[in-house]
Amino acid sequence: MSAILVAVAVFAARAFQHRNSIRVEAETGLLTGTTVATTRSGYSGKGYVTGFTKDGDKVVIKFLGKPGIYEAMIRYCASMGPKGYDLGVNGVKTSGMFPATGAKFGTTSAGKVELKNGRNSVEIDKGWGYFDIDYIEFVPAKVSHSVRKPPVALADTHATAKTVELFAKLESTYGTKTLSGQYDDNDTDYISKTTLKTPAIFAADFMDYSPSRVEFSPAPKNLTENAVHRGQKGQIVSMSWHWNAPTDLINKMLKDSNGKDVDANWYKGFYTYATNFDLSAAVDDPSSANYKLIVRDIDAIADQLQKFSDANIPVLWRPLHEAEGGWFWWGAKGPEPFIKLWRLMFNELTVVRGLHNLIWVFTIGNNPKWYPGDAYVDVLGIDAYPGDHSDALSSTWDNLKRQFDGKKLLAITEFGGVPDIPRMRRFGVEWAYFVSWPGEVQPPGTTKATLSRIYRDPSVKNKASD
Ligand code: CA
Repeated sequence: MSAILVAVAVFAARAFQHRNSIRVEAETGLLTGTTVATTRSGYSGKGYVTGFTKDGDKVVIKFLGKPGIYEAMIRYCASMGPKGYDLGVNGVKTSGMFPATGAKFGTTSAGKVELKNGRNSVEIDKGWGYFDIDYIEFVPAKVSHSVRKPPVALADTHATAKTVELFAKLESTYGTKTLSGQYDDNDTDYISKTTLKTPAIFAADFMDYSPSRVEFSPAPKNLTENAVHRGQKGQIVSMSWHWNAPTDLINKMLKDSNGKDVDANWYKGFYTYATNFDLSAAVDDPSSANYKLIVRDIDAIADQLQKFSDANIPVLWRPLHEAEGGWFWWGAKGPEPFIKLWRLMFNELTVVRGLHNLIWVFTIGNNPKWYPGDAYVDVLGIDAYPGDHSDALSSTWDNLKRQFDGKKLLAITEFGGVPDIPRMRRFGVEWAYFVSWPGEVQPPGTTKATLSRIYRDPSVKNKASD
């Protein structure tokens, strides 16, 4: 491999339409499992690269660049419908979708990338395959570091002074620093020991308090109490809830279409595939037994949230996450019943139960139809598990900022690893906070050096006492 790479010519930067942009023709690259073609008309240069059909098929192009942040524009053809692709720039990978183009070439932005002085490398990997690549053009990007801060006014108009104070604190650093956060004790303690910094946010999940789990296994003895204690010791608390469906659990092993065993036992009951619970029917009929079970479950979690309220600890409350994905039952019936459920929960917790210590965090996907509304949400979060932990997520950020700048705080509510906040900031990506998922911040996934570099960077804000 390396011998072949050495033989690859290094192509000089050439500017075309955009001043100071660098166009890299795909057909000048090193081909693995792919070929150069000229049959489709309208290409630039001497042809285009086609034949992305098998895993490992790719094109790698070396070129000379100038250091900076660029937008990567890919000219491609996806004649057989939308296709996923993987782009790598100097070893940093990102994934995206090519919209369908018919028989013609089209151009799409793959988001912001970073080039260095001298030799650079760009590659397109197969992804879903069945597309053609004409060129990649790097256009100098305008990087904006400014965010417009939303008003300090919470969805719950009766929020306690301490809760408003926490929100104001999140706002005060928004645009200059990103607060660190971590799920669970084991990883939190590991971070403290390894970096000598403690995450600003401690996160946990109410899953095992779901009544349909407690039927099978006793509720946790001190999960809530531990989180309250963390809050009293100066960490910000974030709570989510893998809500086991109120009833209609499948509760047995299933076979998939290939005859493979699928575990749909009671403890998988938050997954759509492990329950027959019909959210749509339930929320449409407040007199139904299933509606009452929804309220019963919310009430059970309200008992836990009450413990934070009693201790005057505000909570970043992130229920009903990843709804748009459809893999959890609360997202299985589309956006309308989901939004009804969100608003029902909002009313039950704030009005009926009088819990005014909640900052409402919505985990957003791609489709605006799932948004419960400005009056029910304080923070928008993404759950991100990029194949490459150093992915700056700049196109996601830019897209959300376009829609919500000045309206809502933006955060990473789950990350598979530790997001590279210093790198993100070079791209103008300025999340209010991040929270890492359990089991993702220790070797081999995350090295101690990377963990320390990020936690000790001045752009990351940790627990106040550190
Ligand atoms: Ca070309």
